[in-house]
Amino acid sequence: MIITIDGPAGVGKSTVAKLVAQKLNFSYFDTGAMYRAVTYALLKNNINPDDEKSVLDFLKNHFKYEIKKDQGQFLYFVNDEDVSGIIRSNHISNVVSQVSTKEYIRKTLLPFQRKYADDNDLVAEGRDMGTVIYPNAKVKIYLTARASVRAERRFQELTEKFPQDIATLDKQEILEEIKIRDERDSTRKISPLRKAKGAHAIDTSSLSIDQVVRKIIKKVKKANKTTLLYRFVRFLAKFIMSTFYNLKVYGKENITKKAAIITSNHTSFFDPPVLAAAMKEEIHFLAKEPLFKIIILKSIIKRLNAHPISFKESNVKTFRIVDSVLKEGKKIVIFPEGTRTDGSSIEELLPGVAFLVNLTKCDIMPVCIYGADKVWGRNKKFPKLFGKISCVFGKPIKFEEFEHLPKEEKIKTILDRITTSLENLKAYADAGFVGPIP
Ligand code: C5P
Repeated sequence: MIITIDGPAGVGKSTVAKLVAQKLNFSYFDTGAMYRAVTYALLKNNINPDDEKSVLDFLKNHFKYEIKKDQGQFLYFVNDEDVSGIIRSNHISNVVSQVSTKEYIRKTLLPFQRKYADDNDLVAEGRDMGTVIYPNAKVKIYLTARASVRAERRFQELTEKFPQDIATLDKQEILEEIKIRDERDSTRKISPLRKAKGAHAIDTSSLSIDQVVRKIIKKVKKANKTTLLYRFVRFLAKFIMSTFYNLKVYGKENITKKAAIITSNHTSFFDPPVLAAAMKEEIHFLAKEPLFKIIILKSIIKRLNAHPISFKESNVKTFRIVDSVLKEGKKIVIFPEGTRTDGSSIEELLPGVAFLVNLTKCDIMPVCIYGADKVWGRNKKFPKLFGKISCVFGKPIKFEEFEHLPKEEKIKTILDRITTSLENLKAYADAGFVGPIP
């Protein structure tokens, strides 16, 4: 799960984000420290931030950035030099917002930032965490506070960190600098500071750190809450699937912590309950619109996170549904073969799934359900009472794989990639689930 905390300078992001991460036992990622480290390294090596070629050469070939944790403290290293203290100096603070406006620098740092969330439950703080880096984070927070309050906080921080400079610190000057930095951060063309869609704004001007942390934890708990009905039906699905159909789940380690589109083969009415039983977290489904016309069924499946998909209407509606589920950091199941198959092979996928992946820029979780067609095949009215069902989660497919492809190639490549992955998983299941999962 990812929590993003964005906001202007001196709003208390770092303190709050660290405490939230600590309380939830999540990793913590301060992206401001990364921009500061880059700024420090460029200054130290006399590289002009405007000189794109030299900057890129330096970042790609001579810049090693490491984050270490020592007795609860985060330490930042550039080429093995501990820069944790120096990057917080007023001088770096004033230059960093010029360095961070450079598109080529932001682009170079982006993959590192995304990678950080790969296997981590994460609290990430910065300026564009919720808008650009993790737009599908489950909880997004936007902290604000009056400029005068932020300047006061920055003054306190600097006097604690650099007591030797106390005579040179001036509150009014700090306030002016904060205003300049805010202006630069929020008016720059690329990744400006602004509240992300769906972010919760919290004005911290008159709140204690503890109060802010509590507010955020409350939002996290709320976001993780599953409805009683979903929990009940999941329990029932799990009970039935394991008691009557001896459900075995392979590749649980491939279930990502991030929002994702789950692409599954589809042979049986049992597929949705199999997936609900196989995954601990609450998942969403796209279901054919006619199911929503049956009054009683409609209210039940709606509560079970099924969303109508229409083959007649434009796909904009489907995109909006999928996008909003993903933006809440959740996962949604799509059966890209379109309808139930006889289970003998993976049938040609409908291109819609690739368009959705491309539009939402989210990762894909391929999964193959095995044996459900033998228990309740597409031509059977009722299921058999006993049988054997398994499912295997394949390695997640990252959207980064497709990001740099030309437009014309993207959809086909995404579709081919999902097809190959499902075919490999099916072959793995056919062969008896032995060896490493493809
Ligand atoms: O959060 P902090 O004050 O340490 O950030 C330092 C500077 O780094 C910001 O003023 C901003 O210019 C830049 N930054 C950014 N994007 C981020 C994090 C920080 O541009 N995600």
